[in-house]
Amino acid sequence: MTPNVSIDKYVLLQFKSSLREQQRELQQTIDRVEKDIRDAADSTADSMDLSSSNAARESMAARNTQNRRKLKVIELALERIQNGSFGACIGCGGAIRLRRLQAIPFASHCIDCQERLEQGVLNVATGSISAPNGGFMHNPAS
Ligand SMILES: [Zn+2]
Repeated sequence: MTPNVSIDKYVLLQFKSSLREQQRELQQTIDRVEKDIRDAADSTADSMDLSSSNAARESMAARNTQNRRKLKVIELALERIQNGSFGACIGCGGAIRLRRLQAIPFASHCIDCQERLEQGVLNVATGSISAPNGGFMHNPAS
């Protein structure tokens, strides 16, 4: 697929650095949560409240699963910058609107395809992405 998308080089660089930034922050968060999980495991020995500390650990682990999924999506976006397909919808090959990319730099689908994706009409397997990226767009800061 040779997408017919032309994004200004300078704009592309901005996307790249903002994605890199998000990638780094996410990696730090993942590391920190992993450390918290280990610490929680260590302190369990002193704690009488075993079940609540297990629950806390499970919720931290679940959060990190989410974080890793986000990280994957961001890495895929960086890959697309690398191979020149950034800004092209992986569903239909059309251009993703710049305004959408500015809001969600790691968006892999145009609005139309994203909507179909969320309705379950479009198969995610049309592109190289294996994880849906619709679930966390509303709170990119968390
Ligand atoms: Zn599309």
